[in-house]
Amino acid sequence: GPTGLGRIIMRARVAPLGSAHVLVLAEDHTQARRVEEIRRDFVANVSHELKTPVGGISLLSEAIIDARDDPEAVARFGERIRVESDRLGRLVKEIVDLSRLQVQDTLHEPEPVDLGSVIGEAVDRVRVTAESHGVVIEAATEPGLTVFGDRELLTTAVANLVSNAVNYSDSDTKVAVASRRAGEFAEITVTDQGHGIPAGEQQRIFERFYRVDAARSRATGGTGLGLAIVKHICTNHGGEVTVWSDEGHGSTFTMRLPRAIQKTVPPPIRSHDT
Ligand code: ADP
Repeated sequence: GPTGLGRIIMRARVAPLGSAHVLVLAEDHTQARRVEEIRRDFVANVSHELKTPVGGISLLSEAIIDARDDPEAVARFGERIRVESDRLGRLVKEIVDLSRLQVQDTLHEPEPVDLGSVIGEAVDRVRVTAESHGVVIEAATEPGLTVFGDRELLTTAVANLVSNAVNYSDSDTKVAVASRRAGEFAEITVTDQGHGIPAGEQQRIFERFYRVDAARSRATGGTGLGLAIVKHICTNHGGEVTVWSDEGHGSTFTMRLPRAIQKTVPPPIRSHDT
């Protein structure tokens, strides 16, 4: 519509010169409106998600002041303040991480990264949680599999998937992490024997703050951002993440990334002047 176009021109003027986004917005204003909607939703969600732990901490501090003569209650409220502030810290970190990934959709200084060591490090990060949940993690990695990218981001992505697999499973179950060559790609799969995800929600779980069971997610300290972060990390590496799940029986998440293929340099062609 005419008003929509006006808005685009305004935007183009305030956007930094040379930004590729300006072109995209000018080409398609319905797309621009959609982007704007998503941004507005995200801001609304962020403020809602931050208010919950902040409000909790505030109420609990008042409760501590009122209960100062009851050491047992003080200890209990103190512990809950610690839990809420941990959650708040994680939330802030993940919001910042996600915003960075979205603004900068190319990798800074990509380097060859060995997937075996990425998986090893990711599993180490989740080991303590897994033990406390009674979940055993088994890793089977194909040696010599490398991708071109950012080691820390790739480790974060795998750790997020393994952490979910543990958190959405019952005790005495297994989580299997594997890597394999698939043509030009490297695949990392994380398989659990957990609760699974209803078919109708399998695509939505990659959206920011989307949770199948908000209470369950909150109980495990989840932020609802883990899979959105995984998705962006995969896209930034030229790959994708997909899910296969059988509700009630388990899920498999697959990260598919272009392999760093060692190119053999052809011998120089000699030209003879005759
Ligand atoms: P959260 O912090 O809530 O775990 P995520 O973005 O990591 O956020 O995941 C979004 C939602 O997807 C979770 O709340 C959960 O409902 C569902 N989910 C993710 N991984 C699994 C899994 N392995 N098994 C079952 N449900 C899962």
